[in-house]
Amino acid sequence: MPELPEVEVSRMGIAPHLEGQQIDKVVVRDRRLRWPIPEQVENFAGALITQVERRAKYLILHTDKGYLILHLGMSGKLRVVPRESLVVKHDHFDLQLTNGQCLRFNDARRFGCVLVSDVHPGLEHPLLRDLGPEPLTDAFTAAYLHSKSRSKQQSIKTFIMDNHVVVGVGNIYANESLFKAGIHPKRAAGKVSLARYQKLVPIIKEILTAAIAQGGTTLQDFTQADGSPGYFKQHLNVYGRGGKQCMVCKSELKEIRLGQRSTVYCAQCQR
Ligand SMILES: [Zn+2]
Repeated sequence: MPELPEVEVSRMGIAPHLEGQQIDKVVVRDRRLRWPIPEQVENFAGALITQVERRAKYLILHTDKGYLILHLGMSGKLRVVPRESLVVKHDHFDLQLTNGQCLRFNDARRFGCVLVSDVHPGLEHPLLRDLGPEPLTDAFTAAYLHSKSRSKQQSIKTFIMDNHVVVGVGNIYANESLFKAGIHPKRAAGKVSLARYQKLVPIIKEILTAAIAQGGTTLQDFTQADGSPGYFKQHLNVYGRGGKQCMVCKSELKEIRLGQRSTVYCAQCQR
């Protein structure tokens, strides 16, 4: 499933090809995504694309006729290809541009979406309005997490993965961040001190930034065959390593389920 870094890299990959371009035609080959693609997308013919923005894992295309909201779901891929390029299975949606190119959305599992909004969806749209801050902005601080977590009984791992708290901390990133910060994933969020949040927050930012930087090396892929930067191969200390040796203290890493998600930690290094 694409995580925030993959979506940000998708944004970086498609934005230079879309910004400043005019939509000639909107082609819907199959409306049946997570929610049906609304008829109003066809009204975007003639619209000028001014900006491609990301909010959480949503891509927001700003145009002079309103906003298009895209989500990649589990398997969605975006490519910029010549309009006449061969259409393959699951190519559900095209934004065909007047310059002969098109943005093509392929989604085999159909958990993605294409939606429209008259106003900027960030504050208004039900899918976006209640989201927590972006992790790579100044709004995401240790003081914020600390105050938001007071009296919270839930585990720190579940807490930082909650999109209403902060967006974009997926399971891998939560596992790795907590290991690096030395915080036990089951510790109650409300019992984590400000000093420990001060350690955790820069680590989360660092891990996400590194993943985006790594994905940045795949930008040309958006105009090539599969349109997917793939899962960025990163150095992982704990995720996927349950039962193996901790890279720091050599004790055996524990693996548990927390909020239905695989959670790997070192009982020696994380308290
Ligand atoms: Zn250890």
